[in-house]
Amino acid sequence: MELTTELATKWFELYVQSIQEHKDQLNELDTAIGDGDHGTNMLRGVEQVQTVLQQQATANLSDLLKQAAFALISKVGGASGPLYGTALLDMSKYVQEHDSQLSNLIASGAAGIKRRGQSQVGDKTMLDVWQPVADDLANNQFSSSNLDQHLQATADLEAKKGRASYLGERSVGHLDPGAKSSELLFDCLLQVLNK
Ligand code: ADP
Ligand code: MG
Repeated sequence: MELTTELATKWFELYVQSIQEHKDQLNELDTAIGDGDHGTNMLRGVEQVQTVLQQQATANLSDLLKQAAFALISKVGGASGPLYGTALLDMSKYVQEHDSQLSNLIASGAAGIKRRGQSQVGDKTMLDVWQPVADDLANNQFSSSNLDQHLQATADLEAKKGRASYLGERSVGHLDPGAKSSELLFDCLLQVLNK
């Protein structure tokens, strides 16, 4: 399955709405194991993405991903901004240098998060959604129920990166906020793919 400019535009438009709808929930998840700002941070970022989308009607896919990355890096503020931004920048570069296969793109985004965050799968971060989604896409198993399972699995993990890691074992039992905002992102992708 290839990502196109048209699909990516629809995907990000849906994500803006989804973050608007889930801002409070993301803040609540971040209140439990962080500083309570993840929803507010992401909303600032996606509102800038929306502005960029409105100005970039004819952008090619690589430019669109790059502009969205810059919007998130410049506006999100929290740790999550540079991480999402790096994921999208790496996807932009991947499109330019290789192809626009979705599984390859999401895998390159996950690799960007790993590099930028110095994180591994199992550290209870957004990577715990990005990496399994990349794997599911590669194995033709990308589905809403699998996506939800990846998110729910973050509750059992102890945080090793980011603010939640300060809580150590007390982070267990809570969903990771960045994993939730990533689940929302991929839920929007499922919607644009009509899955
Ligand atoms: P901040 O922690 O600066 O307040 P946010 O609240 O916006 O930033 O984002 C927190 C989320 O960022 C976490 O739930 C986690 O998913 C993600 N995160 C934090 N640090 C890392 C890291 N080193 N690698 C991957 N993801 C991370
Ligand atoms: Mg926070």
